[in-house]
Amino acid sequence: MGTSGNVSGKVFLIGAGPGAPDLLTIRAARIIAAADILFYDALVNPEIVALATRAEKVPVGKRHARYSTAQTFINKRLVDAAQRHATVVRLKGGDPLMFARAQEELDALAAAGIEVEIVSGITAALAAGAALGVSLTQRGVSRNVTFVTPRVGKDEAVSDWATSVLAADTAVIYMGAGEAQSIADTLIRRGLPADRPVALVENASLPDEARHLARLDKLGALANRLGSGPAIIVLGEVLRGLGNTSAQTLPDVPGDVWRQA
Ligand code: SAH
Repeated sequence: MGTSGNVSGKVFLIGAGPGAPDLLTIRAARIIAAADILFYDALVNPEIVALATRAEKVPVGKRHARYSTAQTFINKRLVDAAQRHATVVRLKGGDPLMFARAQEELDALAAAGIEVEIVSGITAALAAGAALGVSLTQRGVSRNVTFVTPRVGKDEAVSDWATSVLAADTAVIYMGAGEAQSIADTLIRRGLPADRPVALVENASLPDEARHLARLDKLGALANRLGSGPAIIVLGEVLRGLGNTSAQTLPDVPGDVWRQA
């Protein structure tokens, strides 16, 4: 502990992984168990939060903006916590550096002179690939994977997310399931083939994981099958071999081909 009375603690920015508690890294589990205070997002599994046995636990949920805490307030609370506690944990779903507003927290902590350590977690895109049982890169088929979101913040400029998806061999689209139909429409209008295979994976790595596969032009209808869990879109020819019959034929009606099989 510092002797100046402030800025004595360290903040650990930790990825909780996609959901399954045993996909947490051993390093993350060790630091969480030692935490004095823990700030966690809505998507973090309660079983992982419960590993922080000695910590004061503070939800700063970010789902659907309900119960959400303003980012500037979170930044300030992290700085305050580091001035009072030795081990501060900021726990985010997946990996903290992917679509998780980590830079704002890193900048605020750096400005306050607070030491930070980042602990990687498994990001949803990779858990979705595992759920689908398919390699996101494939020799001769896909030599790149794009992680992208169409979501932009309130005061941000519009994002040209579609150009990245058009250029990608495999695209993984975060925070897009709620606007699946308009995503598909945009991509087809911009030139993607209507029969490009697409998958929706909901609750990847969790017991209620669901995988749905269709052609791109059926993505909107496919999204109607989703429940209320987090869902991610995977798009690309790497998916074409999936399905229960011919490796070349995807069902042209929406369907969970695994459940049908
Ligand atoms: N930092 C996180 C992403 C946060 S953005 C990460 O690295 O995974 C939140 C989005 O991630 C959700 O809208 C959804 O698209 C995706 N997501 C998170 N967990 C998921 C899961 N278990 N299954 C499917 N998608 C998930």
